[in-house]
Amino acid sequence: MVPQSRAEFEGGIDSARPPSYVAIMRYVCSNCHTPLDAEPTDEHKVCPRCKAEAGIEPVKDKPPMAMQLFGIVLLVAAVATVGGSLLGLTG
Ligand SMILES: [Zn+2]
Repeated sequence: MVPQSRAEFEGGIDSARPPSYVAIMRYVCSNCHTPLDAEPTDEHKVCPRCKAEAGIEPVKDKPPMAMQLFGIVLLVAAVATVGGSLLGLTG
């Protein structure tokens, strides 16, 4: 009973997705470094500035490493603070 209802649940999610949904990715021209948005399935991406068809590279949408480290430091500091206060209360 459970797997059946789960399959129906996942099917419901799929049917709820708009059929016209297209994932737009950010690319950058390795020739003139102009950013452009294009569909990953588009095989003929052209740079809007220098009209180059070759060298259109996908851009990784990831935060800079410095920001990731900053977030980790904040998390560790928060855990240490909470843990320290808990130890202080119980000890
Ligand atoms: Zn270009």
